[in-house]
Parts: sequence; structure tokens; C-alpha cells
Amino acid sequence: MPWRKPWIDPSEPPWPSDPSALRSALERRAYEVWISEIMLQQTRVAVVIDYWNRWMARWPTIHHLARATPDDVLSAWRGLGYYSRATRIHDAATLVVADPAMRGLLPREVAELEKKVPGVGRYTAGAIAAIVFGLPAPMVDGNVLRVLSRQLGLFANVKTDKSAVDLLWAAADALVRAVATDGQPPHDSSPMTTDEETPVPNDRPGRWGQALMELGSTVCTPKPNCAQCPITSTCRAYAEGQALASKTKAKSNSGQSLDIEDVICTLCQPFEAASVEDVTGDAEVVVETKGGSKKTKSAKQVTLSVFFEHKHTLTTTGKMEAIVDHCRKFPVKGVKKAVREQETLVCAIRRDDGSYLISRRPDKGLLAGLWEFPSRILVDGDEEASSKAARSKLAISHVTEMLGRKQRDGLTGGQGVFTDLKGLNYEGELGSVPWLFSHLKLTMHVHVFVLDGGWSDAGALSTPPAMQRWASRDEVDCESMGTGMRRCWALVQDWEREISEATDGQ
Ligand code: SF4
Repeated sequence: MPWRKPWIDPSEPPWPSDPSALRSALERRAYEVWISEIMLQQTRVAVVIDYWNRWMARWPTIHHLARATPDDVLSAWRGLGYYSRATRIHDAATLVVADPAMRGLLPREVAELEKKVPGVGRYTAGAIAAIVFGLPAPMVDGNVLRVLSRQLGLFANVKTDKSAVDLLWAAADALVRAVATDGQPPHDSSPMTTDEETPVPNDRPGRWGQALMELGSTVCTPKPNCAQCPITSTCRAYAEGQALASKTKAKSNSGQSLDIEDVICTLCQPFEAASVEDVTGDAEVVVETKGGSKKTKSAKQVTLSVFFEHKHTLTTTGKMEAIVDHCRKFPVKGVKKAVREQETLVCAIRRDDGSYLISRRPDKGLLAGLWEFPSRILVDGDEEASSKAARSKLAISHVTEMLGRKQRDGLTGGQGVFTDLKGLNYEGELGSVPWLFSHLKLTMHVHVFVLDGGWSDAGALSTPPAMQRWASRDEVDCESMGTGMRRCWALVQDWEREISEATDGQ
């Protein structure tokens, strides 16, 4: 990964004798790590590498980025999705460069990063503090949540259970602090810590955090490869899986009822009854509390007690499958929200000079700030739009109203009604483009209109030019549009080609 580079050790030559060069080097490193971390949110590494390389070639420092136009930034982000990330990065770069205290250098502490840099949350702040500045800051992404859930045997939903998430962050914090001060100092002459609480910055926190994330993305994946894992010896889910695989019967070992009051976990959710039976020989387990009363413990709590009594054994292939089956239950999977479905009419309107009307989406929400052909969402009352003919009718009425109003506003100062649209020709529905977002299944029905020379655009559009304008084909090509809308544009271009071939053939 091109953003992974050796740690800049401020105590190593040439930096002590050149503070200004050190500042520039840290500024650039922090910028590189920041951009990579934001790009990596919701996007695969293999995809990000290309984008990151192109981004750095175009804007090698935060100062270059701060001088870019919002449209250029959105355009460079095209295809990465979640476009608000690009807008936030750009806003933040402008702010960090303009701030007299920062002057382009991101803060080193997690709290300052979160407070002063828009769009930087706990995870990204931890990554910058650890990887760039060598501070013992935890960085916990989805992969790390999964690894730590399994390592700790915490059976909870890490998307919805705040207590569980807090516990995992606390564990990650304790681990990175231990790692920062563990073993030999990286440089013989420097002490590891100035005091017990504050380790001297070093490369370990960054390497540790990245290693943990990498373990989660390559070995401890949703279906883990425990046979290849370097940390099975500390993994509680693995040990529980071993216990299940060897059908250990905790009760029969001791011959007594369990007293596991001291290891009761209030965070773990219960396992299914089948798992309990496998481990204990009982579907229900009654345990005695310290006060003498008896109560039933959750299945998960029982497996914890089994873990403590279980003796590790050699693992056969069959057992390994059982272990992996157990481990992959961690963390608890939530019920996936049903993906919402939506349909839109996308109306490409071509003027006789070959330009198209395009509109800019609002600065907030889905595809914020991107350009598109004027569109209309089909709502519940539009059931009749299930047929092509009905959609055509709605598209014509949408465009007629839109252009009629604009012409009225431009020509007659608001007195006209939706008239004088003689020059508007409807060419038909070209096709439908399906597009899937994480929470939305969108179907875009593409319609084309042509305005002939008789149509007047005098007075320009009533919407400010920053939000709506006529754009030549080349401008549409270069404009920042979502990938789905670009597919719609491809349909329109195919239609243009067909028309022109038909005309040439006559
Ligand atoms: S032993 Fe398995 S479950 Fe535990 S950390 Fe390793 S890969 Fe993940």
C-alpha cells in the first residue's frame, strides 16, 4: 500500500537539526495517512490504491488540496462513492491550511484532531496519532472490532451495543499502550517512557494498529482462517470452539453444580440452546449464586466457565472446522435492514446547440453536490408509473412544468402560464439503469427530450447557474456525476450515436 511508509522518527538525523524540514515531512505524512484512511472507509484497499496515487499526483500536499475547486475534488472522487467524504476532506483541508495555529499541519493528539478537523472521527484520529506521530492511540475499525470480540470472547452486537463497543475500545487502548512500552526500546539510547503514562513516541503504535487491522482483513475475516492465525493462544472464542469440538462436559468433570458468579458477563448475549447442550450436556444450567439462591445462566456464560476448565488439545481438521464455526459467530450479527427501493425519472434535455441541461444536487444527503440530469423521484401516488407509457406521461409533465416555469420567469416576469413549449420534443424512454447503494436500491428510468431552435431560452434559467446550467457534451463528460448517473449518460450517448448514424444513412 503506497501510503505505508517508514515512521518519521523526530529524534533521528536529519530531523533534530532541521525543524522546518521535519514539520514539512510530518505535514505531508499526516496528509497522506488522513486521505488514505478516509478513502478506505467503505471502500476496498485494491480500489483505493489507484485513487490514492492519482490524488497524490494531483494534490501532493494539503496546501494544493485547499486551493482546488469543490468540483475538481468531487470529480477526482468519482467512483469511490459516499461523496460527502470528498466534500468534508476539502472543507477540512481549507480550514487546516487557513488556521494560524495549524498552518497545514494536522494536530497530533486524538482529542485535538477530532475537535479541529471536520470529518475526522475517533478512528481516523487514532490512525493519524499512532501512524504519523507515534502516540499510543487505538484505531478500531470494523475489522478490529471483530478480532477483539473473538479474542475476548465477547458475544455482542458491535453495531448497536454501546457498552460492548466501549469495552472493545478500552481493550484496544490498553493493548496499544502496552505495545508502545513493551520489549526493547526501538533505539538503544532512548528511554521508552518519560513517565509511566506517556510513552515516548515510537513506531510501535502505528505498526500494531495496522497489523491488527490487517489480521482482521486477511485472517480473522467473517469466516476466520484460525488454522493460519498467529494469536490462537490468546483467543477466547478459539478456546471455546475447542471446548465445543471436544464436547467437554464441565459439569461431569467436577460432579458439582457450577459456581461461575465471578465470571458472569453482563455484556454477552446468550447462544442458542444447541451450543449449551454441546458444552455442558444440559440445555439449561442452574448455578448457585453467592447468596445461595439458584438461577439459570446464559449459554454464553456457561461456555466461559468451560473455557477456564478446558485443557488445550491438538486440533484435527474436523475439530478446526468446529472451532471456525464457533468463532465466526462473533460478533453477534444484527438483523440487516431491508434495503429501500426507489425509482426516478431521469430527464436528459438536449438543446439545439447540442448542450444538455444539468442540475447540481443539494450539499447534503445522497450524492451531495454532484451533477445530474433533472430528475424526479416517483412517489407512492405514482403507482401508474409502473408502465412505460405512464412514466413517459409523468416525464413529459415534469419537463414541461420545469421548462415552462423557467421560461415564464425569464420572459414574462412571472405572468405567463406554462405555455410556449412548442419547441419541446419528447424522444422516449431509453431504458432503465439499476443502481445499488448500501441502503437503497435505485432504478433510474432515462427519458430524452430535444428542444428545437424555436424554443427560447431567453432570460436564462430561474435556478442560479451554480445549481443548474446547460453543458456541452464534453462538459457533461468531465462533470462530477455519480457512477449510476454516468450510466444514464452512456444510454443518452448511445441514443445520440444511433440518431446520427440514421441521419447519415439517409
Ligand atoms: S484464532 Fe481465529 S477467531 Fe481467534 S483471532 Fe485468530 S482467526 Fe480470529
